[in-house]
Amino acid sequence: MDAAPVLISDLMEKVTNLAKRRGFFFQTAEIYGGFRSTYDYGPLGANMLRNVRAAWWKAMVQSRSDIVGIDAAILGPAAIWAASGHLETFTDPLVDCLKCKERWREDKIDGVCPNCGSTEFTEPRAFNLMFKTQAGPVEGEGATAYLRPETAQGMFTNFNNVLATTRKKPPFGIAQIGKSFRNEITPQNSIFRTREFEQMEMEYFVPPAEADQWYRYWVNARLSWFLDLGVPAELLRLHEHAPEDLSHYSKGTTDVEFYFPWGWDELEGIANRGDYDLTQHSKHSGARLEYFDQASNERYTPYVIEPALGVTRALMVFLLAAYHEDEIDGETRTVLRLDWRLAPYQVAVLPLSKKPELEGVSEEVLALLQRDFMCDYDVTQSIGRRYRRQDEIGTPYCVTVDFTSLEDRCVTVRDRDTTAQSRVPIAELARHLHERTTLNH
Ligand code: ATP
Repeated sequence: MDAAPVLISDLMEKVTNLAKRRGFFFQTAEIYGGFRSTYDYGPLGANMLRNVRAAWWKAMVQSRSDIVGIDAAILGPAAIWAASGHLETFTDPLVDCLKCKERWREDKIDGVCPNCGSTEFTEPRAFNLMFKTQAGPVEGEGATAYLRPETAQGMFTNFNNVLATTRKKPPFGIAQIGKSFRNEITPQNSIFRTREFEQMEMEYFVPPAEADQWYRYWVNARLSWFLDLGVPAELLRLHEHAPEDLSHYSKGTTDVEFYFPWGWDELEGIANRGDYDLTQHSKHSGARLEYFDQASNERYTPYVIEPALGVTRALMVFLLAAYHEDEIDGETRTVLRLDWRLAPYQVAVLPLSKKPELEGVSEEVLALLQRDFMCDYDVTQSIGRRYRRQDEIGTPYCVTVDFTSLEDRCVTVRDRDTTAQSRVPIAELARHLHERTTLNH
């Protein structure tokens, strides 16, 4: 086995502190003492979440003609979850520690209570992870609704709608980004596992004979997506599940794993779901969820390959992978080496001084760049301090406006990673930054 990568000490604590201090995410209802395992995203986190979703949508939908997107409802009737198998089997084994009474997910604790060290537990009970609620003012069976625990079922229930409206034919995919909810027994590790989270999933429908080939294709494509966005190869690995560990629907599953501060753990799952979902929904709904191939005059139920990733889990991975400490002019600095596509701000406009003479030109530069880039604007404290603050949140470029700018109509562009500075005419600034950011993309 390869040696485990070496991480910065206390990386988890450093990243979660930074996230709170600078406004990536906060505990929900903090002023009421917090709400366990639920997070609100602040100004930087909200920008970054949008960037993570956009990078995924661009790779999975915009740059492909074989995949379309949908946006399905979070609330749904019990019938969907009866067909998918979630009502019966979407459970985790729940055990109570006999000593301290804490509840745990049996498969995550290796027989030892993480709270008190006891090894004595109750027998495991199957605990359903779905959030159940009531739709409308009338109680009773017909009014029972569930919050979706995954976005995938929206793609299966809309299979015929998408086929009819887009005229796609296998191999083709349906993608979706949206919130999912699971009543996790032991949510943990900050935003890694939460009860409310967001997923990016894609169901790729293929002729059954091509399923294995497409499964391999998507495992590699998804691994490449993280590498392309700057996650170092040594922090990623593939883990193929043994046949006895597969979920009830799966014919093959590979996880993209990341080396988290607590060890290797799942980042994304890619599964060959066979024809399980379309067959189940056909049986339960009576609708024929098949594809009729006119060329061969054959009707068949496509197989499905599914890459499924958490938006919030991906955000955490990008932060952990980007966090670095280096030395600049004898001073330690914290820098997030985020890819420019993910950084909360791509550019910070920094007037060298608060003096009113610089206001006009600084605001002009800001307005010019805001058309194309997410920009921060900061006039407080020394320029050195402001560079450090931008480094710490991953802003790839700082644009400094000084008194000479008033005469030569040039500004200084500083690079986050090299700290190199160059003088650029305001008239060419947007193009200059476009060239630097889109280089290689
Ligand atoms: P586990 O076995 O760890 O509970 P899972 O294998 O059931 O997770 P999937 O159903 O495959 O997870 O979910 C697909 C992806 O959605 C995961 O790889 C992860 O990125 C994300 N995800 C799942 N559950 C959560 C959660 N509770 N919080 C944040 N992200 C999640």
